[in-house]
Amino acid sequence: MQEHHSQLYHPTQFLKSIWYRLYSDFLLPNRTREFRRLLEVALAQGYQVHSIASIWAQIKAQRMDSTPRLVLRLDIDTDLRTTRALWQIMRELNVPGTFYFRLSTLDVGLMRSIHESGSEASYHYEEIATFAKRHFLKSRAEVEAHLPAIRRLFAQNYQRIEALTGLPLHTVASHGDWLNRRLGIPNLELLKDQSLREALGIELEAYDHALQQHYTQRYSDGAYPNLWLPGNPLTAVQNRQSVIEVLIHPRHWAANIPVNLQDDLSRLGEEALYRVTQVATYFFHR
Ligand SMILES: [Zn+2]
Repeated sequence: MQEHHSQLYHPTQFLKSIWYRLYSDFLLPNRTREFRRLLEVALAQGYQVHSIASIWAQIKAQRMDSTPRLVLRLDIDTDLRTTRALWQIMRELNVPGTFYFRLSTLDVGLMRSIHESGSEASYHYEEIATFAKRHFLKSRAEVEAHLPAIRRLFAQNYQRIEALTGLPLHTVASHGDWLNRRLGIPNLELLKDQSLREALGIELEAYDHALQQHYTQRYSDGAYPNLWLPGNPLTAVQNRQSVIEVLIHPRHWAANIPVNLQDDLSRLGEEALYRVTQVATYFFHR
């Protein structure tokens, strides 16, 4: 009866989680047809499909009527190949969406083309996690003490992307990194500063209540075996639920083996470095 350790260390559970990870990264069947079907059913059911920018424009103009709306958001955490495949389907069906790119996935040409096709391309920021990794910050309090510097870093990156792409970047969205979960502070904390938003011309963070309050439900894809959270949006669309957001990560739609391998290794490397410095800090600052 070793109940107290069973949650974390049960060998069967551990092996299962490794198997899920391997399956997600290397064996996941291509799901792009499921993506197409979701959009086709939405269109057949009379949905307007939106980017974050286009739904926000309607909200500002108070033009939200009873037509059902599907807001399509793609967080490009990794995998530009699958990103292009999903965008291709959106173009064929003539529906827009928002693509948020990280610094690590930034592709100026692709972002401009996405914008020209009527969709939105903008910034998926993570400066709290980046800064905390670079300076080995160990707690929420340490992050809070560095927020002015973190905000300066964000402003620099944002303005650089704006200059490189020539795109408006009026909406942005926070990326959730493993270190944010560890420290208990999301990246969007840095955009709680209204003056920063105004200085940069950011109208909306995709998690802002001003937008989210209009959603009847949000759906997100997930890693195998939970491919949809909290459920499959296809059911919502078949039931003509009124305003839904569907959040997509290309990683969960096709197994791009080299990209996933590289991402897994860099995550392991980051975590190892962070832990080593944590141990070193403990010894040197005792
Ligand atoms: Zn992300």
